[in-house]
Amino acid sequence: MNIDSRNLINYFQQVVEMIEKEKDHLSELDRKLGDGDHGVTMSIGFQAVKDKLDHELLDEEDCSKICIVVARTFLSAVGSSVGPLYATGFLKGAKVIKNKRTLDDESLTKFWLAFVDGVKERGMAKVGDKTMVDTLEPAANILKEEFEKTGNFIEAFQYAVDAGRMGMESTQELLSRKGRSSRLGQRSLGVIDPGAASAYLLLNTFLTSLNS
Ligand code: ADP
Ligand code: MG
Ligand code: MG
Repeated sequence: MNIDSRNLINYFQQVVEMIEKEKDHLSELDRKLGDGDHGVTMSIGFQAVKDKLDHELLDEEDCSKICIVVARTFLSAVGSSVGPLYATGFLKGAKVIKNKRTLDDESLTKFWLAFVDGVKERGMAKVGDKTMVDTLEPAANILKEEFEKTGNFIEAFQYAVDAGRMGMESTQELLSRKGRSSRLGQRSLGVIDPGAASAYLLLNTFLTSLNS
């Protein structure tokens, strides 16, 4: 499959809408584990992104430029830990699709693998630390494995989203070791990590945006 800048902008517009719907839920998770701002933070970040999508990026055809603007805008709008994490992900993704107006199966796979690498490099969290990495790393592993087998991005990404969902759900049984909630100890048990939830939503929205 091929996607172009319109499809990518459509994806980010759908993320903006999805975050507005999920805002309270994400903050509720963060109220149990952290300082309660994750939904608000994501909303502030993606509302700033929406402003760019509606104006500056309206006619942009370079997919990497779109991701760079999204990353920089998100970073400067957001004060908390997710700012640099997601910004680094999208910047690292932008690097592997430099100057591209269309993204084929291979570019899409490389993009999402680079996104996950960016988050991991920036935050240094490991699987099991109860962060977004618990969603993203298993998703990336399956994406890579399935894409190598079939060369079909959509199919591979579908498996990746499923693996991401299971990773997200696994954070319920984990103790927090990174970020604010690491101070909670046992009290962090039983709650899904808010960043693991937003990371899953970012992936799942990409899948649904491809079908719309
Ligand atoms: P803050 O903790 O600054 O209020 P948010 O509430 O917006 O930031 O985001 C919290 C989320 O960030 C956590 O749920 C976790 O998934 C993620 N996070 C925090 N630190 C790291 C890290 N070092 N690596 C990966 N993800 C992290
Ligand atoms: Mg928070
Ligand atoms: Mg905060």
